[in-house]
Amino acid sequence: MPQSSIIVVGHEILRGFTVDTNSNWLAGRLFQCGYPVRVITTVGDVDADIVGAIHDHVARAELSRIFVCGGLGPTPDDRTYVALARALGQPLAYRREVGAQMQNLMFINKMAERRGTAGLNAGNRRMAMLPEGAALVRNGAGMAPGLAFDLGRDRYLFALPGVPHELRSVYEDLESRYLTGSHGDAVRELRYRLAPESLFHDVMRDLEGEYPDVSLGSYPQTETRELILRASGPDTDRVEAVINAIRDRVRQFSPLGS
Ligand code: ATP
Ligand code: MG
Repeated sequence: MPQSSIIVVGHEILRGFTVDTNSNWLAGRLFQCGYPVRVITTVGDVDADIVGAIHDHVARAELSRIFVCGGLGPTPDDRTYVALARALGQPLAYRREVGAQMQNLMFINKMAERRGTAGLNAGNRRMAMLPEGAALVRNGAGMAPGLAFDLGRDRYLFALPGVPHELRSVYEDLESRYLTGSHGDAVRELRYRLAPESLFHDVMRDLEGEYPDVSLGSYPQTETRELILRASGPDTDRVEAVINAIRDRVRQFSPLGS
């Protein structure tokens, strides 16, 4: 199954001002469409760190879709386009269609009226300076377009905006184009109330040996005091067999809803 990775960019994440909801949302979507995330790297707004993370992920051939999230905006702390250009060895060039699209948006959302001009300022122009070789991905929710780079051998690297609803809008656009041809794993779970995790140790260890193609995890929920046992894998019958085996073999407790 193809695998993906995420590079989250932003000082605000590393300093605890912003909760990283983007990688959480993206990981869920990528798992569902059959490109599960293998690794997430978070870096600050530091050129060398963004470039380093891109190099690391590109060097791992098993990562067939790489997502760089955040830092596409108009201010000097938005460094992703510049870092991508450096990391991929592509010069930055002004993209007229991106500038023109920004001007359109300024009229549509009346920003031109408020600013007294539809001319692009330095910040806007900066957002249209993109690494060569990037295909544009539509951003239906904001100004910064998403970018797609063809790395060859069915590998792609994408740049997505950091604003959560913009990230989602760009992702929706690229999913149907770049994330086809795979299937998400089947997922089944059992919930137990007030059951100690350790009770499941032997059964889970045995099942790991019997069903190496099924991933099985135990997730205690401290607030609801429920224990979730979750199984996933490419073959639905095998995943269900694991769930049924837990139900049968753990006799002291019954799962909720049974
Ligand atoms: P913009 O065009 O608005 O500058 P951008 O692509 O440059 O977008 P950032 O500057 O990185 O994005 O972030 C814009 C906003 O989105 C900030 O308020 C930031 O806190 C929020 N944000 C960034 N990354 C994340 C994330 N991983 N999870 C949730 N929110 C995020
Ligand atoms: Mg940022």
